[in-house]
Amino acid sequence: MEDWSAQKFTDSVFFETPIPGVGLPPRNSPGGGATRIPVLNSLPEAGEPVPCADPSQFVLARRKSRQISVKNVKVGGGAPIAVQSMCNTYTHDIEATVSQIERLEVAGCEIVRVAVPDERAANALAEIKRRIRIPLVADIHFDYRLALMAAEAGVDCLRINPGNINGEDRVNEVVAAAKDHGISIRVGVNAGSLEKHLLDRYGGATPQAIVESGLRHIAMLEKRGFYETKISLKASDVARTVLAYRIMAQKVDYPLHLGITESGSLRSGSVKSAVGLGILLSEGIGDTLRVSLASDPVDEVTVAFEILKSLRLRQKGVNVVACPSCGRVQIDVDKLTLEIEKELSHIDAPITVAVMGCEVNGPGEAREADIGVAGGHKRALMFMKGEKVGLVEYADIKKNLVREVEILAAQWAEASAKDMSGSGDA
Ligand code: SF4
Repeated sequence: MEDWSAQKFTDSVFFETPIPGVGLPPRNSPGGGATRIPVLNSLPEAGEPVPCADPSQFVLARRKSRQISVKNVKVGGGAPIAVQSMCNTYTHDIEATVSQIERLEVAGCEIVRVAVPDERAANALAEIKRRIRIPLVADIHFDYRLALMAAEAGVDCLRINPGNINGEDRVNEVVAAAKDHGISIRVGVNAGSLEKHLLDRYGGATPQAIVESGLRHIAMLEKRGFYETKISLKASDVARTVLAYRIMAQKVDYPLHLGITESGSLRSGSVKSAVGLGILLSEGIGDTLRVSLASDPVDEVTVAFEILKSLRLRQKGVNVVACPSCGRVQIDVDKLTLEIEKELSHIDAPITVAVMGCEVNGPGEAREADIGVAGGHKRALMFMKGEKVGLVEYADIKKNLVREVEILAAQWAEASAKDMSGSGDA
């Protein structure tokens, strides 16, 4: 049997050779689609130049993957890691589903999935699709006729496993429909529903069994000349999920959709997802993701962006750096941080704001942020782009921060619009 051990993976190399300071994305690039990034994993030898002084420029290398399209959203091939969510409404309830998708759009969700368990749901897809802007994925299990209906209704991607639809002819029909409508397919393997022969062969839902299941589904698509495929390999525990994705990342170049399935409540699910997805993303694995939470789907989007922002893989929205505060604290950091996050939640611009409690670490962090404050007695020292700009009374800190962030955000939007019109002319 083939050796798919973790050790084999960890000995392999797919990161780019560290090349300090090469191929960095512009700091304010919309979406922050960084792809060619040096990973600095050692200190320079004595006498070697220090490679990069700006910490904002340290971004992780990514696995090279094939690019597919889900409507207008590119997945893989260096595109920004797309954030997905899934509705928890009944899909046949069009009003509730569209209303939830609208909230997801506002939160920044880029691809949305709905369950299609029956004909009532399939019949609702065309109207849902007509009323939303982001790409729509139809989640179908077993019933190939629902996949045909979904494709006809104009969805942008089918989540269906060809090995589970019971017959070569049916697979032919689904693939033909996907090709005719120009839509992609997500092969979604779940540890909880693996084929019995694989469970028998591997003695359970091991990472290797999960991967083999995925490869079998992919082979069925490739046999029919279909390559617009992305793959997810989900288990409810982090260790199995991580190993399955690591193995698959070496086997194929298809884009990978990351997720820890049934990960739990807002708190426990966010932690599990941050750990599992964080490990994979830090290794360059992952082209799109969903944080599965037993919570409002909007929370999934918020948490997903926080994970991506923490690794500098996306830069959407304000990134608030706040100290935990301690016995030296001079301003109410907790309250101020919550208020600022709330007031600036509508900002898309990638702006870092630091809220620091005192003069110990405060000035250093505040200087590195786009805008920052360091607490002092009844007042705070304010910094912008690394420069000290003055003292602010405690009561005015929030007002000043919000105003300055909004000014920076407007400048960023103007610069982005110019960039886009410039690239359109080229
Ligand atoms: S910045 Fe000051 S208040 Fe905040 S944790 Fe550090 S020492 Fe404590």
